[in-house]
Amino acid sequence: MGAIQVVEPRVVKISTRTEIDIRRTLPHAHLNRIGAWVFLDHFGPTTQVDGMKVAAHPHTGLQTVTWLFEGAVDHRDSIGSEQTIRPGQLNLMTAGSGIAHSEKSLGGPAALHAVQLWLALPDAVRHMTPMFQHVEAPREVRIDSLLAKVFIGELTGVKTEAVVFSELVGAELALDGQVSLPLNKRWEHGILVVEGEIEIDGQPVRKDQLAYLAAGSGAVRIEAKNFVGILIGGAPFDEKIVMWWNFIGRSGDEIVAMREAWNEREYPEFTDELGGWIPAPELPNVTLRAR
Ligand code: MN
Repeated sequence: MGAIQVVEPRVVKISTRTEIDIRRTLPHAHLNRIGAWVFLDHFGPTTQVDGMKVAAHPHTGLQTVTWLFEGAVDHRDSIGSEQTIRPGQLNLMTAGSGIAHSEKSLGGPAALHAVQLWLALPDAVRHMTPMFQHVEAPREVRIDSLLAKVFIGELTGVKTEAVVFSELVGAELALDGQVSLPLNKRWEHGILVVEGEIEIDGQPVRKDQLAYLAAGSGAVRIEAKNFVGILIGGAPFDEKIVMWWNFIGRSGDEIVAMREAWNEREYPEFTDELGGWIPAPELPNVTLRAR
């Protein structure tokens, strides 16, 4: 049984998501990624339901995975998708060679509470034509008193319809009690505590922390009180990547080209209620290197 590494979130304020503090646990100084999962933002719950207003911005070389606990968010993109997402649904945007999108939270629900994650695309498919998929309902897996809503990938042989390009899982977990959760032994995993408190193999993990479980374990014992969390995992992703702003490439030069293409407005236009677009920031003064 490998040791469990606990990652503290960084609080990130993003000017375009005005009223919301984001807790980011991936990437982290001590943890680059978990399988192909390279980015994990958790925001809310907040009653500033109109707090999320992210104008048009690009993505390349990755998939964005959006999962809500509460609220509603409108998605628009440059391939013509218009989709409101609500709790229990998945929005999966495969950026491939490049896509632009905007996100706006809607009034009406009492609160907004969500996670957004990114998956690195393997080299063989990262230049693919962009696509967007909305899945209405997750696959449910019950193990003793644990309920797992599997929204992407697969858990204990139960597979979702979400289109992915490496072996992985993403699921919302709910547990009040204890369970031995079977894990794919070849995969590494992470468990984000969203609500409640848990012990994983006897180690306490607090709210907003991400527990990292190295590959090699066929199961993990979880004891929980009113726990809600996110399970991510996957086969170790052994390609070196460069991640900068909203792009994933394989070299600094690729990132420079992606940035220019966006700032020179080479992406298809689309309309939304937000208007405007977010320019890419200045590149750092050092050469971006793959890691
Ligand atoms: Mn985005």
